[in-house]
Amino acid sequence: MARSTWSGAITFAGFPIAVKAYSMHKSASKDGFKTLCECHGEPIAQVRKCTTTDKEVAADQQRKGVEVSKGAYRTLPRDTVEAIEGGERSAALEIELVCPLDTLDMRLTTGAYVLVPDGPANLKSVELMRQALAKLQRALVTRWTPRAGSRDATLVIHPGERNLLANTFPFEFQLNDAPNMDASNVTVQPGELAMFEQAMTALYTNGPFDIAAFQSDFNARRQKAIQQALDGQPITAPAAPAAPAVPDLMAALQASLDAQKVAA
Ligand SMILES: [Zn+2]
Repeated sequence: MARSTWSGAITFAGFPIAVKAYSMHKSASKDGFKTLCECHGEPIAQVRKCTTTDKEVAADQQRKGVEVSKGAYRTLPRDTVEAIEGGERSAALEIELVCPLDTLDMRLTTGAYVLVPDGPANLKSVELMRQALAKLQRALVTRWTPRAGSRDATLVIHPGERNLLANTFPFEFQLNDAPNMDASNVTVQPGELAMFEQAMTALYTNGPFDIAAFQSDFNARRQKAIQQALDGQPITAPAAPAAPAVPDLMAALQASLDAQKVAA
């Protein structure tokens, strides 16, 4: 059973509706390999060293700072760092905006959560909230700090098919300034577009996306090694897959479409 990321309340019309947030994603670190020493096969301790004296720096002697110019640092006062990083965990979410669902760019979300009622007493309130949001096609915008000292995020609560869902959004300053392509001088002929359309629909399996249909090769390789380790079997290296050749796109498209016509 998944562990909840957060439990607290949504404050609605002055009343707390208690919920637990479960992340839809497993944390990445959970099923990785451990780093062990070659001599004993035991876990390794991380030692933080002073780069001037090469001596170990104890945790209470480590400080935070800012690189003010290349290779030059300024140490921050401890209480400043504590004040910055000591954000309190959200106990109750305050609704700051009720927004139309279609004004949310879901491509930007950084985390996905299911909000389940915390105890049967909250079941009906959560379901009413879900149904009201579904009917209005709106979402609740709140601000969320899941753990003490963790970064805050904008949390958008919206209606799912059977659950109340929530997604974290980055703040504007966290968005990367990705470039836009400029296709304003590109002329697309109807025939060229038709060829691309035909290639997309004829050369590939077209159908609804099913998350279960796509398996991780990395995970399969790792799981095999983990299983061999657990079973006390010899641990074998997986075979490396061959790199595919990269053909000329238009020529390859034409060739593939011609081959289809011959076959049909
Ligand atoms: Zn050792």
